[in-house]
Amino acid sequence: MTNTGRLIVLTGPSGVGKGTLLKQLLQHCPDLYLSISATTRPPRPGEIEGKQYYFLTKAQFQDRIDQDQLLEWAEYAGNFYGTLRDPVIQEVNQGHKVILEIELVGARQVRQKVPEAFQIFINPPSWSALETRIRGRGQDSETAIARRLDQAKVELAAADEFDFQLVNDDLDTALQELKAKVLSL
Ligand code: ADP
Ligand code: 5GP
Repeated sequence: MTNTGRLIVLTGPSGVGKGTLLKQLLQHCPDLYLSISATTRPPRPGEIEGKQYYFLTKAQFQDRIDQDQLLEWAEYAGNFYGTLRDPVIQEVNQGHKVILEIELVGARQVRQKVPEAFQIFINPPSWSALETRIRGRGQDSETAIARRLDQAKVELAAADEFDFQLVNDDLDTALQELKAKVLSL
């Protein structure tokens, strides 16, 4: 019998704490696999090629699209982001849970292509908390922050499309909720 894993999508507005939650979740659940996306966004200080992302030029990203190597992709705040299909499929086929941390347009594509994927949405406790977190991260320009906040409104309005929602208010509480849900899948 084939040991089939599970695809899990994690979405939520920029600055809500997806990266923070995932980093801790992976420490608690070492058998989870986090998909490394490709992007045309420039690396932030401290980001490493192949760790947070594969950083590509627009031409390289277009090649991945043309060669049908992406499970999903989207333009977000002026840059392209996409999930490389093969490593994800390989891990799922080996029986692992694979998490995609992706924005709304990509999450919708996965919903169409992989209906059995479980989709989780992370909410902020309030709009002002979200704004404070994006600015507090201190890694995006004012223009990038403004685009992310605009996009956040669109994403928050789509939260009900997801299978499961949680609020990242107290980090430890949100982490426990996320962990319990992921382990239950
Ligand atoms: P995302 O990956 O969703 O864009 P990050 O994980 O980069 O968000 O978090 C954005 C900022 O918010 C970071 O500075 C992080 O330390 C902070 N943060 C994350 N979760 C919480 C929380 N529960 N309470 C307060 N600050 C948080
Ligand atoms: P950031 O630039 O802050 O790292 O990411 C911006 C947005 O792109 C976030 O909402 C993040 O979830 C999303 N993102 C990251 N990788 C992918 C991907 O492979 N596909 C899609 N559709 N979105 C992604």
